[in-house]
Amino acid sequence: MKSSPHRHTPALIHLSAIQNNVKKMRQHIGQKSDVYAVVKANAYGHGAVAVARSVHELVDGFCVSNLDEALELRNHLITKPILVLSGIVPENADIARSLNITLTAPSLAWLKIIVSQPTEIKGLKIHIAVDSGMGRIGVCDVEEANEMIALADQHGIIFDGIFTHFATADEKEESKFSAQKEKFDAIVAHLSRRPEFVHSTNSAAGLWHQKEVQDIERLGVAMYGLNPSGNALTLPFELEPALELKSELTHVKTIHEGDTVGYGATFTAQEDTIVGTVSIGYADGWTRDMQGFHVLVDGHFCEIIGRVSMDQMCIKLEKDYEIGTPVTLIGRDGAQEITCQEIAQWRHTINYEVLCLLSDRIYRVYQ
Ligand SMILES: *Cc1c(COP(=O)(O)O)cnc(C)c1O
Repeated sequence: MKSSPHRHTPALIHLSAIQNNVKKMRQHIGQKSDVYAVVKANAYGHGAVAVARSVHELVDGFCVSNLDEALELRNHLITKPILVLSGIVPENADIARSLNITLTAPSLAWLKIIVSQPTEIKGLKIHIAVDSGMGRIGVCDVEEANEMIALADQHGIIFDGIFTHFATADEKEESKFSAQKEKFDAIVAHLSRRPEFVHSTNSAAGLWHQKEVQDIERLGVAMYGLNPSGNALTLPFELEPALELKSELTHVKTIHEGDTVGYGATFTAQEDTIVGTVSIGYADGWTRDMQGFHVLVDGHFCEIIGRVSMDQMCIKLEKDYEIGTPVTLIGRDGAQEITCQEIAQWRHTINYEVLCLLSDRIYRVYQ
């Protein structure tokens, strides 16, 4: 999709906020662990290359979700270790090997396909995934892990790490977390050999279980300044949200009693009403269920009225503002603020999704 820099609906990305969040997390977990910045999904919508460059000196490596995301970083001269967190199409392992991209090995079956490839795989680095209770990818017992290590050794594949992923590190109730940790620890303890990197913690585990951080902290959403628990758990230190979403009024008019707004005519004016139009819609990831929520204009909350269309939506204004008046969709305006978390709650989802849905059409401006 084409980014639209001429539209004046930018996401302002505060790189210094991301840097500060990384520094604070490092302090919180201590110096013994590496920090890998999770920049999958275009760095949760913040722009993978820009974010990776801005934290390159502050982190020890990067995590992405697929090979193309890893290639994007290597193509932009990001030289630090990159770990791909999902299982990739085995036929592409050679690309990873040649660019020193570390792969997740989700199972013995996957590794068997890898070693049967005609392409060169000697020197490929892998981290074995352990399914300790997430139920997504990974081995469930130490026998399978040890078979994988033996197979890797036979074929010159480097067994560089082993990791697991927690399903409930962002919840108050800790029994599932403890059970996963116990299972992972038991498997690691019985490995035929300990690799260089044993890791398990995401943002939530790093924030609320910092003693459990092992060789690598995989730092995702907290780096972007959001609370991974929504507001279920209190942050141990303040995070700085890194993204603001702004726009401008493109059209202002007064409608009269009985006039309607938008597809389906779902809003009918009861009296003279000043309506502003904003250039954002569901094609930008500003979903249709935002109808009834609000934005900020001139430090005041203004209701989103009528259906959100693909590219535009309407808001109810208090005054007859000029074209070009700033509109804040996420972020601060005067004394007021709209957070990703508030939007997530309105949509019955999580703050991660609000960020990731912001489409490429929204121009990212770095500050
Ligand atoms: C996405 C992801 C992370 C980062 O999660 P956050 O909650 O954003 O910190 C860490 N590890 C794995 C395996 C992931 O898929």
